[in-house]
Amino acid sequence: MSEIHRIKCGNGNCYIIENGTNGILVDTGKKEFIDKVIASCKSYNVKLIILTHAHFDHAENAAQISDSLGIPIGMNENDCNLIQANTNQSLVASNILGKIVLSASLKEFAVRSMPGFKPSVFLHNDDSLSDYGINARIISLPGHTNGSIGIDVDNKHLIVGDALMNMFYPTVSMLYHNRENMLESARKITSIGNRTIYFGHGKPVTNKQWVK
Ligand SMILES: [Zn+2]
Repeated sequence: MSEIHRIKCGNGNCYIIENGTNGILVDTGKKEFIDKVIASCKSYNVKLIILTHAHFDHAENAAQISDSLGIPIGMNENDCNLIQANTNQSLVASNILGKIVLSASLKEFAVRSMPGFKPSVFLHNDDSLSDYGINARIISLPGHTNGSIGIDVDNKHLIVGDALMNMFYPTVSMLYHNRENMLESARKITSIGNRTIYFGHGKPVTNKQWVK
């Protein structure tokens, strides 16, 4: 059985999934938190970086952590255009809080340029992570971005990236590239059943019906 360690990086989270022998880092945080994230990776023998999606607050440290630890980066190829510029997939928000978050995000997109990297593992729905020593599988969760993925660990813990959010309260994603896909992914998360949900932003909660 694996444990999930939440690494708080300002208002965002990275996670390490580990079982005492092997570890996987999920998301990498903003550059301000690189030392904290690398130190945690070393504690848990991390062998792979997975990006739930390629927004800079999740992916900005990917290149440096990959180089420093000599480990590969895995993600879905539909987010590769975000590595060059986060503005390559438009974002919209549906409510006032979403609009506030969106305006802050767009300001950061304009001034942040992620160090470039090349993912060497492309991850798809239902892929197993057993090659990395962890009992988990990938869940495709498009909508927030085209290549958003989640990681289902031991049929118990579900890391969802920004497919759902808990910045202010637990909810479907407040900003997204494609609303229909985002809602479909939220329904898919509900259908997975009894899980603890780990967000890219905010504290974990129990899975529930996300779309009314
Ligand atoms: Zn995001």
